Amino acid sequence: PAPSASRTRTTQTHCPYCSLQCGIALTAGDRPATLVPADFPTNRGGLCSKGWSAPELLDHPERLTRPLVRSTPGDRTSPLVETSWDAAMDLVVAGIRRTQEAHGLDAVGCFGGGGLTNEQAYQFGKFARVALRTSQIDYNGRFCMSSAAGAANRAFGLDRGLPFPLADLAGADVLVLVGSNPADTMPPAMQYLDASREKGGRLFVVDPRRTATARAAELHLQALPGTDLALANGLLHIAVAEGLVDEQYVAARTTGWDAVRASVKAYWPDRVERLTGVPVTAMRRVVLALAGAENAIVLTARGAEQHRNGTDTAQAWINLSLALGLVGRPGSGWGTVTGQGNGQGGREHGQKADQLPGYRMLADPAARAHVAAVWGVDPDSLPQPGRSAFELLDALGRDVHALLVLASNVAVSAPDARRVMSRLRELQFLVVSDFFLSETSELADVVLPSAMWAEEDGTMTNLEGRVIRRRRTLDPPGEARDDLALLADLADRLGAGAHFSADPETVFAELGRASAGGRADYAGITWSRVDDEQGVFWPCPTPDHPGTPRLFLDRFPTPDGRARFVAVEHTGAHEPPDAEHPYVLTTGRVMAQYQSGTQSRRSRSLQLVAPAPRCELHPDLAARHGIASDDVVELTTRRGKARFIATVTDAVRPDVVFAPFHWGGGSSANALTDAALDPISRMPAFKTCAVAVARVGGP
Ligand code: SF4
Repeated sequence: PAPSASRTRTTQTHCPYCSLQCGIALTAGDRPATLVPADFPTNRGGLCSKGWSAPELLDHPERLTRPLVRSTPGDRTSPLVETSWDAAMDLVVAGIRRTQEAHGLDAVGCFGGGGLTNEQAYQFGKFARVALRTSQIDYNGRFCMSSAAGAANRAFGLDRGLPFPLADLAGADVLVLVGSNPADTMPPAMQYLDASREKGGRLFVVDPRRTATARAAELHLQALPGTDLALANGLLHIAVAEGLVDEQYVAARTTGWDAVRASVKAYWPDRVERLTGVPVTAMRRVVLALAGAENAIVLTARGAEQHRNGTDTAQAWINLSLALGLVGRPGSGWGTVTGQGNGQGGREHGQKADQLPGYRMLADPAARAHVAAVWGVDPDSLPQPGRSAFELLDALGRDVHALLVLASNVAVSAPDARRVMSRLRELQFLVVSDFFLSETSELADVVLPSAMWAEEDGTMTNLEGRVIRRRRTLDPPGEARDDLALLADLADRLGAGAHFSADPETVFAELGRASAGGRADYAGITWSRVDDEQGVFWPCPTPDHPGTPRLFLDRFPTPDGRARFVAVEHTGAHEPPDAEHPYVLTTGRVMAQYQSGTQSRRSRSLQLVAPAPRCELHPDLAARHGIASDDVVELTTRRGKARFIATVTDAVRPDVVFAPFHWGGGSSANALTDAALDPISRMPAFKTCAVAVARVGGP
């Protein structure tokens, strides 16, 4: 039945999924809720299938509405049964106390998510350090943005995904996308690429697959996964050789150029062609286009960054952008395309193992003193930096014996996922807050039902660094509650309640104070400003500051105000193909699924489009193994096996197999992936490992 007029409410809010955070108008009264796209500055009326289908899940019959506990406490083979919040929280408090008394404060870990609001992410970081006094907290954004963040911090002194508004893409004469596929991952963003091309702009795409984005490009550079660093160095070699470096910019705004110029001498174009598979002619065309453009933008994303050398790979593309004088010039620059809805805000406010709110470093005494004063605690009581995400998961059952997980499904999203699942099983106590039972919460002792996007208030920070408002339209079903309230309640029961509010606007104001003077400064941002101004770009240090849509225009936030070149070298794959595993596996997303699939695999309309995990194989590779489209194939790596339905397509390189990572169980791509970590960002090598292929059945 149609919602009755008296109970119907329409709210301006945002899609819950990716970092584009498309604006929507959500109408709810009697369920089901409906939406229409809004004319927000990022999506301008556009929306993808994930956004359109998002309201379906709000009243999905599998929503968790009451806390769940094991029918036999401590026995995870016993069924999960409903209980009251009081009884569940008593168990959680007892589990935390028992673990810390037996093994020390750091024996309890926290694992957060890039889908949490800024307020929740901030509260979670504070909860870990103040209520639990544990150093062991990190979040799933470590698996997403950390290499680009590491490179941007090293080069510019600041990490903000896009240091310019998304709309700048429309004005670019040349766009180079490296390991980025917005046509599938965030389709409304394609309007900016289309606008650029319509006025004569040129698009170049580097990707091992001929994706929908690559098909829209003037030229597709089909590089072997894991060779993007060599490609960038090869392009810079050509720029130097052909006298295309912007020497004036380099002299005025950068340091470290001489070492980089010397290092790229070794990246002869024909050598780089052999390493990457990209023809010299194609490389030269890209360099000439970039150097000749008035406005040019280079974007990297997970394809370039999720490697054991992801930070150096992002740095190589930054080096190229700096040498051509692009960074900090209006309409030009380098940026990274954030993945998760609040992947940006989620890493600014203290969920990371080594950071406090405002990007302050936890090991810095001045940073500790500032944040401790806001929190009303002794700086010496704050723990030191803890383990990064995968290292934390790998310590479960050994050094960390209890874990609290918010909004993350690590059993599917972490690399070497079966090893992670066995670590989760070794825990003495696991608590998961989620809105559905996931592969991770199915292993828990206590599962807490959380509110979904339309049922909570807060802010998110999109891929541009624009702080936007998530607005509550509906009440959560049953006894589900906002994670902010969960953390405030839990802190109270642990005896730290005086420090924690459950009101998101109060928490946002506190977050502003904690971030004041930090690199991600929110001190001048209020909810009412966000409402009135269609979002505010940080840094925004004072109430009368306009916000900062474009960074680095005058100087870089480094001690000398200059950007830093860093010489980086191609070191080869961590796990090169061999006789047993002769191909390269790369993983990624498909349009109608999202991340670990906890939500999208339950969406009826998305399941119609992408109902099953399909891997992509080149016809030559498929013929070698007698595989036809729709056959069942088994992929085997040094970690394990997983089965997929084959799509035979020449869109993928003949030496590469592509598998989507949205599924768990027997089709878990991350059961195959390599957990080798980048030494700086601690990013796992999701995007390349050696794989064998075998046909195991017909359609
Ligand atoms: Fe949602 Fe991203 Fe799709 Fe926009 S592009 S509708 S934010 S998933």
